[in-house]
Amino acid sequence: MSKVCVIAEHRDGKIKKSTLEIVSAVSSSGHEVCVLLLGDAGVKSLASELGAHGAKKVLFAENPAFKFYTAEAYSVALAPTLKSENPEFVLAAHTPQGKDLMPHLSQKLGVGLASDCNTVECQGAWKLRRPVYAGKATAEVEFVGTGPKLASIRPNTFGSPKSDPAKSSEVVDISSQVSGLVGALKTKALDVVKGNSSRPDVTEASIVISGGRSLKSAENFKILEEMADTLGAAVGASRAAVDAGFRPHRDQVGQTGKVVSPSLYIACGISGAIQHLAGMRTSKIIVAINTDAEAPIFQVADYGIVGDLFTLVPLLTQEFKKLKEH
Ligand code: FAD
Repeated sequence: MSKVCVIAEHRDGKIKKSTLEIVSAVSSSGHEVCVLLLGDAGVKSLASELGAHGAKKVLFAENPAFKFYTAEAYSVALAPTLKSENPEFVLAAHTPQGKDLMPHLSQKLGVGLASDCNTVECQGAWKLRRPVYAGKATAEVEFVGTGPKLASIRPNTFGSPKSDPAKSSEVVDISSQVSGLVGALKTKALDVVKGNSSRPDVTEASIVISGGRSLKSAENFKILEEMADTLGAAVGASRAAVDAGFRPHRDQVGQTGKVVSPSLYIACGISGAIQHLAGMRTSKIIVAINTDAEAPIFQVADYGIVGDLFTLVPLLTQEFKKLKEH
């Protein structure tokens, strides 16, 4: 059994699913999970959800410096706590926050970091694997030296988190320990301006429906949005669609966009360039719709439909709606 610290991420008063899936999977493998939870006044109320997902202990700190995430405030506060907890592993989700924070912690603790792991075996001897060369190969990471082993885990690596309301954790307030540490920060986030989408983010959604250049306009993405709303999915895009102004950059999937690993990825009118595949090839099931039977996307697709997306997407949406009704 290993002692594992998980850095919690939360937004709008909710712990993110990507954090809960790590807590749930690691604790159900028999490890002792301690969650570090930082936030503004009131963040303590999120501890019970972490306990229900298997955390044995939640160390929380409330301070205005944590109202909005900054790498400086979080790493300054977390590094000494991690040193005193001395876990074998420190895990965080490989979200924009995790990607930003974990290298800072790695530097502050002087230990190694396995970034963007998409295979984590944590029963018995731990094995961490991460995609390399734009997903064409997989590297197994070995840590050398002493001290905690840091890893960021790609969302959806473990699948759906499981909770049990009967479970609870020890909740410890470390606010006074960290308040002195965050007194002289050089950076401060004043506000976070939210996008106006009500759909889930592509990195967190368990279904992603993406469109490419072939959608021809921002307006035409409505057919993908309708399918997405029927399935509770996120809408993604290729870089060509983003460069053409059809979607915002936050929806871009790929090497220079976001890396996604949903249960289901539906690529509509996307050719399957290597830079796009780098962002979605680890999806559990890939469906491709393309008029060109030779399109490279079909080489990674589990199911392929050769045809016009403008005909097929509305038909599929209708069928999904019928299935939902029954
Ligand atoms: P196209 O390649 O133009 O493909 C359109 C596809 O739609 C074709 O396969 C066509 O057969 C099909 N089609 C056309 N009409 C229909 C229809 N009516 N119904 C069904 N199918 C139809 N790309 C990314 O996506 N993400 C990245 O992060 C990224 N990063 C990059 C980084 C670098 C350094 C570079 C050089 C490139 C990057 N690219 C990235 C760009 C990438 O190389 C491709 O140009 C891009 O992915 C192509 O987008 P697309 O598939 O939408 O367009």
